[in-house]
Amino acid sequence: MAVSQRSISILGATGSVGASTLDLIRRERPNWRVVALTANGNVSELAKLAREFSAEVAVCADHACLPELRAALSGTRVEAAAGEAALIEAASRPADITVAAIVGCAGLAPTMAAIERGGAVALANKEALVSAGEVMTAAVARHGATLLPIDSEHNAIFQCLQGHTGAGNDLADVRKITLTASGGPFRDWPMERLPAATPAQAVKHPNWDMGAKISVDSATMMNKGLELIEAHHLFPVPFERLAIVVHPQSVVHSMVEYRDGSTLAQLGPSDMRVPIASALAWPRRMDTPCAPLDLAALGSLTFQPLDEQRFPATRLAREAAMAGGAMPAVLNAANEVAVAAFLAGQIGFTRIAAHVETVLSSYEPPAPACLSDVYEVDREARTRARSLMEFAR
Ligand code: NAD
Ligand code: MG
Repeated sequence: MAVSQRSISILGATGSVGASTLDLIRRERPNWRVVALTANGNVSELAKLAREFSAEVAVCADHACLPELRAALSGTRVEAAAGEAALIEAASRPADITVAAIVGCAGLAPTMAAIERGGAVALANKEALVSAGEVMTAAVARHGATLLPIDSEHNAIFQCLQGHTGAGNDLADVRKITLTASGGPFRDWPMERLPAATPAQAVKHPNWDMGAKISVDSATMMNKGLELIEAHHLFPVPFERLAIVVHPQSVVHSMVEYRDGSTLAQLGPSDMRVPIASALAWPRRMDTPCAPLDLAALGSLTFQPLDEQRFPATRLAREAAMAGGAMPAVLNAANEVAVAAFLAGQIGFTRIAAHVETVLSSYEPPAPACLSDVYEVDREARTRARSLMEFAR
């Protein structure tokens, strides 16, 4: 066993971020011990990964998958488990670092369980932080956990703040934080074509290879709105000091402007293995197989303002963010329902933001004080989103 072996759990191991994380682990296998790997219902892929990485436990969120998972892992030493409680139990097991890479608010409870353990949590699951906001950041502080952002923009900001503010608590010298946005696949489409955009077109991102839900969020630019809220919780500056700029090449991943006029940016290839490696190795560095940037070959980097008429979702997110309290959770839940309906062919592309706006104006619950309040808001917002959608059809 290598002397410096570290232990890791990956929540959402079968997804895009999960696969990128495991690719890095695979390349320096002796340095890592895999504790828990989890998935939703993709039993065969989960079992394959659990065998390959000799995981301590493999968990399917869907309880009905347990017999199949047990059969797929028979003859190995990997424990098989399934269901919500098993997911939380696995996330609570000691590990040096937990990668929170479940998509959607479904990742909230296991991510909170990892936070409550008090270790390092590498966070990709932005919907959990958007929905739980202060409830999650208070738990991070209470349990002495460390949130290491994996989302490329937030990882860039985190890196630009190193050396100045340590983990990012003293932001008085920060004048502005600017998130870059590629603009997604529809940045240059004629507006009148947008209502007919198909799921296949929406998930085909020009620069990044990601899961379906975040790809649709990138196409509507709700992703950037969620990221604005995520940034506010990770780096507590007021929303007025958070900006978005469109940068089609996705080379500059975000920027921090200090009050003396210095702007620090982080650049890198558009490959999630770079920010994931930064979180896994923090505060040190590790190798990745990613091709280094060749700026001379790139020639130029361009920037342009965000067109909120084309992308109303970012405006909605900013409004929900400024309203605060439960509104980001309502925004997120309505968006998850609308994106799922779009991917299922039930609503058109431009209906996603329209639908979120309707739900936001119909439901204004009080600010959640604890996790169960967040779940209550999430549940009710989903119910309303679904029934409003039925009504609109
Ligand atoms: P994905 O759809 O590829 O994978 C999601 C993972 O979550 C899978 O392992 C799936 O089995 C699991 N899962 C789905 N529903 C679940 C449920 N109800 N209960 C338990 N597990 C469930 O998604 P992704 O693209 O890897 O994104 C994961 C998270 O990371 C998202 O929050 C996304 O916004 C964020 N993120 C992704 C990227 C990227 O490049 N893919 C970049 C930045 C941030
Ligand atoms: Mg991002």
